[in-house]
Amino acid sequence: SVPFAVLEQTLKETAGARAAVETGRCVVHWFRTDLRMDDNTALSAASTLAAAKTAAGEDCSVIGLFVISPQDYEAHLMSPARMDFMLRSLKKLKKNLQKLEIPIWVETVEKRRDVVGRVLELVEKWGGKHVFANMEYEVDELRRDEKLILQGIERGISVELRQDTCVVPPGTLFSQASGKPYSVYTPWFKTWLKYLRENPYLLDLPAAPSANPRSTATTFADLFCQPSPTNPLPLSEELRETQLTLFPAGSRAAHQRLQHFITQHLPTYHKNRNNLTSNPPTSVLSPHLSTGTISARTCISHAYLANKNSLTSDPPNGPSVWISELAWRDFYRHILVSSPWVCMNKPFKPHFASIPWPHSPRKSAALLDAWITGQTGFPLVDAAMRQLAAQCWIPNRMRMVVASFLAKDMMVDWRLGEQYFMRTLVDADFASNSGGWGWASGTGADAQPWFRIFNPQRQMCEWDPKEEYVRRWVPELGRLDQGQIVSGKGLQGEKARRRLKYPEECVVHGDARKKAAEIYKTGLEKG
Ligand code: FAD
Repeated sequence: SVPFAVLEQTLKETAGARAAVETGRCVVHWFRTDLRMDDNTALSAASTLAAAKTAAGEDCSVIGLFVISPQDYEAHLMSPARMDFMLRSLKKLKKNLQKLEIPIWVETVEKRRDVVGRVLELVEKWGGKHVFANMEYEVDELRRDEKLILQGIERGISVELRQDTCVVPPGTLFSQASGKPYSVYTPWFKTWLKYLRENPYLLDLPAAPSANPRSTATTFADLFCQPSPTNPLPLSEELRETQLTLFPAGSRAAHQRLQHFITQHLPTYHKNRNNLTSNPPTSVLSPHLSTGTISARTCISHAYLANKNSLTSDPPNGPSVWISELAWRDFYRHILVSSPWVCMNKPFKPHFASIPWPHSPRKSAALLDAWITGQTGFPLVDAAMRQLAAQCWIPNRMRMVVASFLAKDMMVDWRLGEQYFMRTLVDADFASNSGGWGWASGTGADAQPWFRIFNPQRQMCEWDPKEEYVRRWVPELGRLDQGQIVSGKGLQGEKARRRLKYPEECVVHGDARKKAAEIYKTGLEKG
């Protein structure tokens, strides 16, 4: 059974019982990956319900709830940088909500199996009868929400879920030819555009929540004075400082970044987005989109306006290409819903589950270590991996290059790279990460075929021709004359590398295609 379909069915079957629940003295909004006050579908609905009861003469407050679940973080490989970004965003959200007298309570629940029970307990304790939340699409989260609805009904609590994180909700687009969900991006994107044109309300922003009644300050006084939680995941002081500087958290910072991107980079995004310049030509909104301090709906609405009220253009321009990139985020969430096995450490194309990775576990571990520490001997790969370790973020082009390199040049199981990304990225997002790794390794939805292998040297010539990026992140190459890195001349021979204290190439790129062909074909036969 597909967990999303099961949840939809449960929602249908419990609709009557949920509608019969009368509004209590508060309505709870469970914040998850939607850490913003404005343009938040479920929060807006929670506020409307509470305001209606207050207008009818009985004060009803909105209460925010956020759950910290260490066991969930372990299971989902939560990265310390993302956790830090989330907690910083939560602090900002708390301040914003307080302006409307809305408290937000942060509850730490050690065991994931206790989360649902504890949430319902809190709702009861506060005298609430409704919990609102925006849906999450990973299998564990869908199952958790099903449990929440059913246990809620038993306790007289109505659970109201909204679709908010995608612009076009998962479960809506099906191929006309087969009636099945899409697995290829281009036809999916055409249908996505058509659906959005036919349902333009999907770009309308939900109403902002209204202020709580004055009585909230006294009725729920203890909820307003909770100290901020500390990060349960260790993050070095140095990394924390870098994160603070590079990724200011919260909705305000997200909107400032969006405005800066729209004026400075959006018009040329289609031409420049892969360039490895020190000032990124892309939005760098991914930490915000992953944490929900800004919505994809807001981003696309702005690009739509910048494109004179159009989602596309011919030829493609900056806004239309940015919209199509944001659509990839929707696409990978649609894939999670239609192919839930990707949440279970399995490739989208199940026949690639049995690729016979050629190395012993020891060799594999050594190669993985060289990749993680940026010691592969390939300047572009090393530059990107060192940037990732230092900043917890790298550009899309670099994610594609290093992922392809691990899977197809080093021939290390790509799932180890996928896990490292989850544990490291500040914007770690299960759907996009699993989709990106599937694409780069040739095992995912609409993936790059296994026989297309990025040449790291050529990628460097194309996207970093002035060697700015590699020189910044691999400073030991600084002694080489300009042009000697992209031409490869400065790194020829063992002696040259030893002099620079830069490692030998850990694999022979020229052999990769042949070897990848062998293992992928065997994998196919076995699968
Ligand atoms: P922009 O170019 O400004 O794009 C705007 C937004 O669109 C992004 O913030 C992102 O939300 C979305 N987007 C753009 N490209 C993609 C894409 N190819 N797939 C999905 N969404 C996209 N993105 C994550 O948010 N989290 C991840 O964990 C993640 N892991 C990845 C792993 C691999 C191997 C690959 C190849 C890609 C991964 N991506 C991931 C997608 C993409 O690399 C980042 O979203 C992008 O680099 C973020 O930079 P930006 O905000 O400046 O993007």
